[in-house]
Amino acid sequence: MECQMCGGDAKELHVIPIRNGDSYVTKACTDCAEYIGALCHGKTKLVFEDESMACSVCVDELAGRIQDICRALLSELPTDETSANFTEWLCDVSNVLREPPVESFARAIATKALRYNVSVECVITKVWRERSAACILPSAAPL
Ligand SMILES: [Zn+2]
Ligand SMILES: [Zn+2]
Repeated sequence: MECQMCGGDAKELHVIPIRNGDSYVTKACTDCAEYIGALCHGKTKLVFEDESMACSVCVDELAGRIQDICRALLSELPTDETSANFTEWLCDVSNVLREPPVESFARAIATKALRYNVSVECVITKVWRERSAACILPSAAPL
């Protein structure tokens, strides 16, 4: 099978959700997938619209570790219309995933940190200072 990145013959191809011409995925050999940082924990990372990536296993691990602080942080966030977008999004996500909002919140913070290679403390501090979680919405600008 031909790797769409190096053109080499590969025993195994990873389907990476990165644009390749008209296609929304690129089939890459293990070397190429590793080279662009698309593999972790032996599987393909989640890829976002801006092609930033995060491993779902790492996200879950990190989210588990910050759950207590996230619970405290969540209770400090305003619930008025300034954060309506965030509140609505959190509600939707936790409904779809059938989990408490604090878990979705912790995962969103962990995802943001891993996507942009910053520490979770940095993301948490930003949310805390701004009293807004707008920066962790999936559509928000990179941190
Ligand atoms: Zn390759
Ligand atoms: Zn990982």
